[in-house]
Amino acid sequence: MIYKRSSALFAEAEKVIPGGVNSPVRAFKGVGGTPIFVKEAKGAYLFDEDGNRLIDYINSWGPMILGHAFGPVVDAVVDKAKKGTSFGMPTEIETKIAELAVSMVPNIDKIRFVNSGTEACMSAIRLARGFTGKDKIIKFAGCYHGHSDSFLIQAGSGASTFGTPNSPGVTQGTAKDTLLANYNDIDNVKALIESNKNEIACIIIEPVAGNMGCIPPRQNFLESLRALCDEHNILLVFDEVMTGFRLAKGGAQELYGIDADIVCFGKVIGGGLPVGAFAARNEIMDYLAPVGPVYQAGTLSGNPLAMAAGLAMLNALDNDAEVFDRLAQKTAYLHKGISKALQENAVKNTINRVGSMISVHFDENPVFDFHTAAKGNNDTFKSFFHGMLNEGVYIAPSAFETWFITDALSYEDLDFTINAVNEVAKRL
Ligand SMILES: *Cc1c(COP(=O)(O)O)cnc(C)c1O
Repeated sequence: MIYKRSSALFAEAEKVIPGGVNSPVRAFKGVGGTPIFVKEAKGAYLFDEDGNRLIDYINSWGPMILGHAFGPVVDAVVDKAKKGTSFGMPTEIETKIAELAVSMVPNIDKIRFVNSGTEACMSAIRLARGFTGKDKIIKFAGCYHGHSDSFLIQAGSGASTFGTPNSPGVTQGTAKDTLLANYNDIDNVKALIESNKNEIACIIIEPVAGNMGCIPPRQNFLESLRALCDEHNILLVFDEVMTGFRLAKGGAQELYGIDADIVCFGKVIGGGLPVGAFAARNEIMDYLAPVGPVYQAGTLSGNPLAMAAGLAMLNALDNDAEVFDRLAQKTAYLHKGISKALQENAVKNTINRVGSMISVHFDENPVFDFHTAAKGNNDTFKSFFHGMLNEGVYIAPSAFETWFITDALSYEDLDFTINAVNEVAKRL
């Protein structure tokens, strides 16, 4: 394929935007080469500035679960835009989407809308700290909760020592309140709680991890976290920015039958516009301003275009009883096909899948936490990525990302993808 125009546009962008991109993973640093500039997209396909067609397995990192330029979302946004794009005053549509979200998701009474997943997670832990009167949080290595300071933390010398920042600009003062645990390791969490008695406000987790590839929670892991939280008066925060309205109507809470205390949303809930949200039962949500003392605000929060897109998206998902099964079936079909193609070409691999999230790891051992995810062969991934691109299939330009399956994919598209894997695997 030819990427002449994309390369030229990237060179222009680099002059005025740091690294030529507004979010780092878009820059292809993990795989080499220059990023592709999108011109437009429809359904399961991206069309780039050079006129190439690509089957899209990123789907804006999740939101386009029903495909690009999904009719009802586009119509809702266009219609709203003609009536004014922002007021900074209450609008009826905010209540409509809040009512719908509360009806779809178990265990929440109220929801507050923000502008990104980052904001949702940042606000959720402030609320957890305010509500419990405690300062520390536990997060898991390899889980991503946006780029606010508290979450950009790596382990120090041992998992039970204080975290150290992994970005300049994050202070030691902030880092000391974030404790790092290993995903799927309940003993590790217990030890952290023991050594920080009565200091932990919340445990935040991706109930299915999606930012180190797709990593399912082990049997009973989430149940055990729930029990530990109850025992120690700690809030359990589910970051469902990726899994919310994707794994089931009610997200991972519904899929695994676990009640979280605070739930964070993003991605699908905005239908492709900048939206995040966090939600909980009344007792916790009423701790937020203007009812309670914990401050949180936003000029563009609940923006009418964003709410219109989100409402159209949630309505479409709510009204389609089969959509989550259909997505899971397509993903299972892809899993089987890719697995067979790699096996036949003797490419070592592990494939993880939950619902419509799937990831291919180039290592034969089980992948269940950040450490095991990092063992995958990155050179193989790079060749795989560029090979797939050349075949007309776009997957995330990083070995640590999940593929997001969209309902716009047909079984022909899936077969096309499996054939592409087979072609690429011959040369790995
Ligand atoms: C994408 C993501 C975020 C951050 O959301 P943004 O909208 O990019 O700020 C937070 N948590 C999880 C689990 C995510 O996948």
